[in-house]
Amino acid sequence: MIWNPAEKMNRPDMARLQLERLQMTVHRAYERVPFYRQRLDEVGIRPEQIRSLTDLEAVPFTLKNDLRDHYPYGLFAEPLRNIIRFHSSSGTTGKPIVVGYTRQDMENWTDCCARVASAAGVTDQDICQISFGYGMFTGGFGIHAGVERVGAGVIPISSGNSERQLMFMQDFGTTVLVATPSYVLHLTEVMRSLEIGREDLKLRVGMFGGEGHTPEMRALIEQRLGILDTQNYGLTEICGPGVSYECLENCGMHINEDHFYPEIINPETGTVLPEGEEGELVLTTLTKEGIPMLRYRTKDITRLTREPCHCGRTNVRMELVRGRSDDMMVIRGVNVFPSQVESVLMTIKGIGPQYQIIVTTEQFMDKMEVQVELVDGQLLESYAGLEKLTREIKQKIRIVLQIDVKVTLLNPQTLERTAGKAKRVVDLRENRNF
Ligand code: ZN
Repeated sequence: MIWNPAEKMNRPDMARLQLERLQMTVHRAYERVPFYRQRLDEVGIRPEQIRSLTDLEAVPFTLKNDLRDHYPYGLFAEPLRNIIRFHSSSGTTGKPIVVGYTRQDMENWTDCCARVASAAGVTDQDICQISFGYGMFTGGFGIHAGVERVGAGVIPISSGNSERQLMFMQDFGTTVLVATPSYVLHLTEVMRSLEIGREDLKLRVGMFGGEGHTPEMRALIEQRLGILDTQNYGLTEICGPGVSYECLENCGMHINEDHFYPEIINPETGTVLPEGEEGELVLTTLTKEGIPMLRYRTKDITRLTREPCHCGRTNVRMELVRGRSDDMMVIRGVNVFPSQVESVLMTIKGIGPQYQIIVTTEQFMDKMEVQVELVDGQLLESYAGLEKLTREIKQKIRIVLQIDVKVTLLNPQTLERTAGKAKRVVDLRENRNF
C-alpha cells in the first residue's frame, strides 16, 4: 500500500516542491548556523542564488568530520528548547556525532518510516519484532514509530540474546522481523542448533537495514527463512532509517524525495554524475528543522533511477548499497569492496555466511586473507577436502577481483557475532591512508 500521496507525485510537481523546500532549507541554514554561513560565504553563494535544483551543485559538501568538529550542538538550527529527541552514532574514534529532532522532525521521521513499513507490506494484521538496537542508535526508535503508525503490533525486544529472540518469535507469532542482515543470518544458525525449522515460525516479511546487503545474502535469507526480504536505508546524520526503502517489487529503494534530495557524485572529483551512473550518494535534507544537512556525503556507493516502478510509486530509486567509498580497499592497485568477496563466498557450498577479510603488508606488498567458517567442522579432518574447497574459493575470488588471496577455513562459530553491523575488514597495513 502507498502510505503517503507524496510517493506517487508526478515528476514536475515533485521538482517544484523540492525546489521550494531546498530554498527554504538553504536560507534557514545560512541564517541560523554559523558553519553553513561561513561555508557559503567562502564560495560566494547567497541563499537567493539557489533558483533551480542544479544550483545546489555550487554549495560545498558537508562531511562527517564537520559534525564531529561541531560536537555536540554546533550545527543545530533550532534552540535546544525546540529539540525533543537526541540521537547519536558511535564513532570508532573520538566523539560521536549528535543529532536533534524537533517535534515536526519527529512527525516527518515517523511518516517516512511508516512508508518503509507499508511498502514492505506491513499492516495492522502484523506482529513486528524489532531486533534493531534501541538507545542512541536511530534504528530501533525510528522503525518502531513507523511500524506502530501503520498499526502493527510492536515487540520492542531490541538486539541481542538470540535464543530469547527465537522464543518470542515462536510464542508471540511474530510475522515481521526488523534486523541487520548479518544478524538474521546469525539467527538462522542459532535456529539450526536449536532445531527450530522455518515452519515453526510465522515470519513472512523481513525489514532489513543498518548495513549493506548483497543479492546472494538476500537469496540465502529467503531460502533459510522462506520470507520476503525488503531492504531499507538511512543514516543518523540524515534522520536514521526512513531515507529510502524497497517496495514489494524488490528493485531498488525508493527515496523519500519530498524530504531528502539525492545526488550521485564521483567520489574522487566531487562532480555530479548523470542519472544511472554509479557513484557516492550525497543527500540534502529538505524539511529538517533541528539539524539541516546541505549536501551530506554519505560515502555509500549506489546509482539512481527514475524509471517507473510497477508498484505505482514515482519517487526515485537507489540501488542496494554495494559498498561504502571508505570501505573500499585498494589492494595492489585494485579496488576491492567486501561485498564482492561476500558475493563469491555465498555461492560456495560448505562454508557459512560469516567471514572476515584481513589485509596486511608483507615485503611492501598488500596481502589479503579471507577467513571463512566451515558449515561442518568435520571437514577439518580431511586434508584433501580442505584443499579442494580452499582452491575453489581462491579461484572464484581471483575471477572477480583479479588478485590472489590467502584463504583460511575456520571451525563453525569461530568468528565473533554481533547484533549490529558485522566487522568484515581488519586492515593492518601501515600505510593504508596513502
Ligand atoms: Zn516500487
